[in-house]
Amino acid sequence: MKIAVATCNRADYSKLAPVLRGLKQDTTFQVSIVVMGSHLIDDYGNTYRFIERDGNQIDSMLHTLVRGETEGAMVESMGLAMIKLPDILNRLQPDIVMVHGDRFDAMSVAISAAVMNVRVLHLEGGEVSGTIDDVIRHSITKLAHYHICCTKGARLRIESMCEDSSRVLLAGCPAYDELIHTDVSKYHEAFERWLPNHVGTKNFIICVYHPVTTAIAESIQHFGLLLDALVHFDVRTVILFPNVDAGSKELVRCIRLRNLENHEKISCYKHVPFSEFVYLMGNCGLMIGNSSAGIRESNVFGTAVINIGTRQRGRQSGANVVHVKNPTSAEDLLWHIRSQFGKVYPRDYIYGDGRAVERIVKFIKEIDCDSPVEKSFNFDRNSSGLRAPSKASFGAEFPLS
Ligand code: UDP
Repeated sequence: MKIAVATCNRADYSKLAPVLRGLKQDTTFQVSIVVMGSHLIDDYGNTYRFIERDGNQIDSMLHTLVRGETEGAMVESMGLAMIKLPDILNRLQPDIVMVHGDRFDAMSVAISAAVMNVRVLHLEGGEVSGTIDDVIRHSITKLAHYHICCTKGARLRIESMCEDSSRVLLAGCPAYDELIHTDVSKYHEAFERWLPNHVGTKNFIICVYHPVTTAIAESIQHFGLLLDALVHFDVRTVILFPNVDAGSKELVRCIRLRNLENHEKISCYKHVPFSEFVYLMGNCGLMIGNSSAGIRESNVFGTAVINIGTRQRGRQSGANVVHVKNPTSAEDLLWHIRSQFGKVYPRDYIYGDGRAVERIVKFIKEIDCDSPVEKSFNFDRNSSGLRAPSKASFGAEFPLS
């Protein structure tokens, strides 16, 4: 079975990497990796290098990012990707194309593959968050032939979009396979690299904040307040530069205007590889910002989180997350930071149980690539409105609230 895995940035790679490892261990699969988007841009950490460092051979590198970091540039990037992708798909002739999540680049891959009659397998559909990401994620669901999701709620949403229940697998998040099985008490090497000059556990902050594409001006304002609050709070802080979404340049300007790259207690990085980022998440006193990692991953360690604004609106979160929807001042945020910093919450496992990859590999193996590629839908409704979930979806039923 020939599988092309498309990855656009670190946010999808942290979930695709464990799946790649699983697929590579099974001789049934011939895997090609297509790298595009911000992976290939220095400002975003040239993260393709970490794909290679993981022992992967990259089959195609596509420069698909139109710079400008505006809404229009995102659309142009999608267009550019769609101009380049048919050649790649024609050459690779994959049976299945795997995409993840809700990025505009992933949408180009899904459209191209679906129109070229290549089966699309979508990882982590059915979730809810704010911004244009929701629209893109659900659109990819409609383009995809197979769905792998992380929660019961996500599965229900995919089914309520009339996707064929027998093609939906509740597997859990593949990143959890790594999160749950990492012993974060062995943090020393990661600390040495990213937090030099000794810092104690639970005594530093991680800040990851991205633009809110549907409210760019407001998100820039919130980020300014956040940075001012962090400077006031005055503990060791790791700030990750924002992703490539529209508004990104202005967020970077907020960091530079305050000269935070030269601040004694603040370290600014483009990217920390996931295998090391896990140790930072597991040992920090607080994660703050609007990254999905705060909502979906930090709960595994009971890390205290402050989630700001609307970028993660509606995403299922644990008791460790305090949501500050509309911060009014740096003092307002400072108050929340003081009350959350250093708190340790009970661990919980909302998005997985650490066994996603084995389920995913089994599910893919059972896909009949000789069957007609045309999609079927749950339109043949029963009295409850939807066809009952098929027994064939042998996904986990780990406890999910
Ligand atoms: N991540 C990482 N290194 C970093 C920052 C994030 O490996 O320096 C991982 C994080 O653990 C999560 C994913 O990247 O799995 C999410 O990234 P990000 O916050 O950039 O994007 P979002 O999902 O919020 O769009």
